[in-house]
Amino acid sequence: MADHYNLYGLKHFAGIVADCMGIALPEGYAPSIGWISDILRERLGGTADRAVLYHADAVGQYILQQYTGLLAPVYKYTSMAVPFISTVESVTPVAHASMYTGLDPEGHGIKTYVRPQLTCDTLFDVWLRLGKKVAIVAQKDSTFLHIFAGRDLDYFEAENGIEVQEKSLELLESDKYDVVSIHTFEYDNAAHAYGPESKEALNAVSLEAEGFQRLAEAMERYRGKHRTLLTYSPDHGQHPTMDGHGQHGSKMIEDMNIVHFFGTIA
Ligand SMILES: [Zn+2]
Repeated sequence: MADHYNLYGLKHFAGIVADCMGIALPEGYAPSIGWISDILRERLGGTADRAVLYHADAVGQYILQQYTGLLAPVYKYTSMAVPFISTVESVTPVAHASMYTGLDPEGHGIKTYVRPQLTCDTLFDVWLRLGKKVAIVAQKDSTFLHIFAGRDLDYFEAENGIEVQEKSLELLESDKYDVVSIHTFEYDNAAHAYGPESKEALNAVSLEAEGFQRLAEAMERYRGKHRTLLTYSPDHGQHPTMDGHGQHGSKMIEDMNIVHFFGTIA
């Protein structure tokens, strides 16, 4: 049987988030997928004034298919799971540049594993022009800290996934940020080292899913005070290599098919 690639490209992520927040992306950027943001806005009872965007690196769709229960903490705080297809190449800077702009790789210019500071308009720039207070919290040397550098937002770098979650919790509990964008790659690291379905890698899926749950619980305390959009949004998957490691960047279905989760707290 032929590989079945998912339908929606990652470039729609920016449009979905923007539409949920009632803001517009620059001309020519990929629009929201209307039915998704319509449902989310209905559940929010208006536009989101908070967004908590969690990016667990490299968690592919087949991990969800084979180890579904590991994502229980994500299911608990989300209401929609939507299949997406990664970018070509299926690597972090290409994928996240598309997710935070609404452009194909040709449009934003990152087509392979390089990490220049993006000069085109990103969702971060759109938020900042509207006066939103924005933070990026990411593991040390995260792609986010390279390609989205140089903006008037708060950058926090932490040693590991747990420390990223701790810092993110602190920011959410401070109630000072409109948007917190979080990038951890504990699963990506473990899957590269030990294989995508190794015990170490699957433990990292849990660590990141439980981290998402902790952040959602923090926002639960603001139910009724804020309308919060939550997303759990990986960038690509990983496939096993012959020598017992994990890799990505190819057009293999394991690298390309991912699932995004969306939730609302209002
Ligand atoms: Zn990787």
